[in-house]
Amino acid sequence: MRRRYGRTRHPQPTPRCADTPVPGTRPRPPGNLVAMGSPPNSLPTPVTEAGREGLAALLDSPGRAVLALDFDGTLADIVPDPEKARAHPGAVAALARLAPRLCSLVVITGRPAGVAVRLGGFTDAPGLERLVVLGGYGAERWDAATGTVRAPAPPPGVAAVQAELPGVLDGLGAWHASWVEDKGRAIAVHTRRAEDPQAAFELLREPLYALAERHGLIVEPGRYVLELRPPGMDKGVALADYVRETGATTVLYGGDDLGDLAAYSAVDKLRSDGLAGVLVCSGSAEVAELAGRADLVVDGPAGVVALLHALADRLEEPA
Ligand SMILES: [Mg+2]
Repeated sequence: MRRRYGRTRHPQPTPRCADTPVPGTRPRPPGNLVAMGSPPNSLPTPVTEAGREGLAALLDSPGRAVLALDFDGTLADIVPDPEKARAHPGAVAALARLAPRLCSLVVITGRPAGVAVRLGGFTDAPGLERLVVLGGYGAERWDAATGTVRAPAPPPGVAAVQAELPGVLDGLGAWHASWVEDKGRAIAVHTRRAEDPQAAFELLREPLYALAERHGLIVEPGRYVLELRPPGMDKGVALADYVRETGATTVLYGGDDLGDLAAYSAVDKLRSDGLAGVLVCSGSAEVAELAGRADLVVDGPAGVVALLHALADRLEEPA
């Protein structure tokens, strides 16, 4: 199915990465990454060799790089009501500075693509004319170039879970300790608003895994959320497919939660295949698993925005 968000345009294919650096950028040799600018936009140095090489490759040939970012917790602060999430102030401006210099900028999220576009304020944003948003872990795709979402129909298991879920929550006495979000292709059960979010999360974990299994779905655990969704697609598959589609030789991926680990693994695999990569963690006190695998940890969405500006600063330096 196709839905329109924003102005109608003629469809355009995803552009392939250019073989030459984007004009106006200054190629830099690998390793030349320390001693940069002054706060607040100084570019941090990755803690790993692979990360330093990845960042050097991005700065050297931005026209061959894909920059891929998660939405909630990475570009948007986590809030109790997911519907009230918005892109961090300055995020769109930072993305708009970077996007024209890159091969491609893509947001990869578990949300429906159209919802992320709306909450992100990505429609008709100057500088983001080529932005792509992959929603539903890559099952849906919004292209700024066309203003349309491509989305397959949700599998029947999602409707079955939606119908059964109220009874399951009621039976657990968890009806008031949880909040159900219909994500179209998935059902998310949040416990962030419960009196004890962690206790509510633990109470729901096993019954919701069982419910998902009965209907052919899987559970994606996150920050005080258990998301029941179809198998077969994750952020790693989405990212690897997208990088392949663009022909990029460098990829930077930034995320904050367990669902981003698949994308981390995809970058590891791409690096083993000879591509350059940078793994960025939008750090929080709630998730520790990503920071240990990241090349670069920044302080939440505000840190991500500062990093994007620092990258833009470097790429905008005159040759
Ligand atoms: Mg996230």
